[in-house]
Amino acid sequence: MHSPMPSLRPCPKRASDDIVRTAVRMGTFVTIHVVGAVGHKSQAESPMLREQAVERAFAWFDRVEECCTRFDSASEVMRLAAQAGVPVPVSTLLYEAVQFALAVAEESGGAFDPTVGYAMETRGFNREYRSGREIRTALDCGRPGSYRDVRLDPERKTITLLRPLVIDLGAVAKGLAVDLAARELSPFENFAINAGGDLYLGGRNPDSEPWSIGILHPRSDTELIEAVRVSNRAVCTSGDYEKRSADGGHILDPRTGASAHGVASVTVVAPTAMLADALATAAFVLGPADGIRLFDRLGVDGLIFSIAGSIPGSTPDSSTDTDGVTPDSPALTRYATQAMHEYL
Ligand code: ADP
Ligand code: MG
Repeated sequence: MHSPMPSLRPCPKRASDDIVRTAVRMGTFVTIHVVGAVGHKSQAESPMLREQAVERAFAWFDRVEECCTRFDSASEVMRLAAQAGVPVPVSTLLYEAVQFALAVAEESGGAFDPTVGYAMETRGFNREYRSGREIRTALDCGRPGSYRDVRLDPERKTITLLRPLVIDLGAVAKGLAVDLAARELSPFENFAINAGGDLYLGGRNPDSEPWSIGILHPRSDTELIEAVRVSNRAVCTSGDYEKRSADGGHILDPRTGASAHGVASVTVVAPTAMLADALATAAFVLGPADGIRLFDRLGVDGLIFSIAGSIPGSTPDSSTDTDGVTPDSPALTRYATQAMHEYL
């Protein structure tokens, strides 16, 4: 379990009929905050209706986890691993998650690759977070596969693995669950969902202002490095200080098979959490210059803190906003998309 970040900054005011619930889901703390109806005509629904919607929002985290976890050999995604070569009919949820992950793989030239599951497992990311039980997938992998070894049939809604693979949806599943939860809460307009640092902020905070999100300093648990103000947007962060194994960080560079390094944290602001979640991971692998280019191409905004001097040729690009080249820590270099300042 890792600390939630970025985090919601406390709102000075909170209406008495706000609902705030926190529970552990998908190995992290999930907090849902629905702003009370007082003063919001469109939120005149009863507190009971809001409570029920919050319950349904939490249930999406269970549903997505159950379907997408690689820590249960009986999950839908792991049943694919056992049937390489065969078109397997799958749920809409899994189909859409895999289709989306393959699109990001294509866009990022394979820096993002949802077929890293087996490599993750062999690099020590092999324990189910609740039971601590070790997983060991028996796969005759031969040469390592890639996202190009996954075929989708949009008519039949089947997925075929062309070779034995473990699909890892760790970089999209939390975002997907946040988006599905946000859909449940959309009738209430003003709400916030924080799933261990992957957030969606609907409408406005209890002060009727855009939500303010603090981004933690990648090298300090107690310092914020930035704060962004957003409304109807997702904000997701990937950092090198999150989960680690003896072999390194939890984001792999599929081109080397080792942990990606050189970037300390990436925060993406996007219309959906699934997009922000996946693109944060993609940019973490790509590094600052290519990461910012990817954001620009896909029309999202983002901030990247790289470890200065660790990536050859990663001096700040003139096309990016690099005003704070050395923020609080001299060891970090800050990169941002041009329009990012609108959120700061
Ligand atoms: P977090 O889970 O902390 O939010 P991310 O969203 O960045 O972090 O996702 C990291 C997860 O994505 C890893 O735990 C792993 O499951 C998966 N992953 C690791 N490397 C890659 C990669 N190159 N492409 C796609 N997914 C990856
Ligand atoms: Mg993430």
